[in-house]
Amino acid sequence: MKISFIGLGHMGGPMALNLHRAGHALGAFDLSAEACGKLAAEGLPVAASAADTLDGAEVVISMLPASAHVEALYLGGEGRPSLMERIQPGTLVIDSSTIAAATSRRVAEAGARRGVAVIDAPVSGGTGGAVAGTLTFMVGGAAADLERARPVLEKMGSNIFHAGGPGAGQTAKICNNMLLGILMIGTSEALALGVANGLDPKVLSEIMRRSSGGNWALEKYNPMPGVMDAAPASKGYAGGFGTDLMLKDLGLAQESAIAVRAATPLGGLARSLYAAHSLAGHGALDFSSVIRMLRKA
Ligand code: NAD
Repeated sequence: MKISFIGLGHMGGPMALNLHRAGHALGAFDLSAEACGKLAAEGLPVAASAADTLDGAEVVISMLPASAHVEALYLGGEGRPSLMERIQPGTLVIDSSTIAAATSRRVAEAGARRGVAVIDAPVSGGTGGAVAGTLTFMVGGAAADLERARPVLEKMGSNIFHAGGPGAGQTAKICNNMLLGILMIGTSEALALGVANGLDPKVLSEIMRRSSGGNWALEKYNPMPGVMDAAPASKGYAGGFGTDLMLKDLGLAQESAIAVRAATPLGGLARSLYAAHSLAGHGALDFSSVIRMLRKA
């Protein structure tokens, strides 16, 4: 199958490589020359523009930072061309970026007008899951379109859920990430408290991991440096899931909470704490660096 892949960052890069290695013919593009160069060095065919990836593509996948990027790419505006107008009718678009559900619905409507099926398929599992091909996909859109996408999604992930109609994948994703953002702060607080009282962070982590405080951060993504070799915390919080991306997701969760008058007090507090962490100059660091707010330097 010929696939167009747009957005080759921390997540998109390894996802595109997994499709390439599975034998799909890829046309890939990123606005960043650095990202393109890195993937070209790994053997991925990189195009000169997003439109140049479309030739013969049956599926278009995008993995972009936020709503504004997805809107600019597919819908254009302010003098920019719309990629949707260049995509052939009958093509399937899979947008895996985490964005506002309303934006996903607008892109799906633009696709429907052109005869292009669109699903939102944001992911969970981090950069480790993207590299290993074990991501969880949360899909919004028609069930038949998900079935068309499934063979492609299976090359990048091991769990595929149909959350509901257009935008439902995004709603599931921001609920999950609001919980993750809160859990990371709670886990950081508990670890910082134990270490300040003289405990070894590895020992405390193992105790809590196997006790009632056990959670994903303790399992796979410990925020304390030196506890897990593969976690961003042990690499100076480089790579991983940026604080500013977590801040964006918590903002989306709050917007959605306001729209339905839901009470999300811890989600709101978590957004404020990541915002303060970002304002202190840590927006590009992995979100687990939020532990730095809670312990002595
Ligand atoms: P990233 O910033 O590393 O990569 C995004 C890439 O998109 C960048 O390389 C950027 O140059 C490119 N881009 C932006 N606009 C473009 C355009 N118009 N055309 C082509 N390329 C364009 O971000 P990421 O960490 O890969 O995250 C991507 C998405 O996945 C985000 O929505 C994020 O919230 C979500 N996500 C990230 C993680 C994670 O652990 N990093 C986990 C789950 C979900």
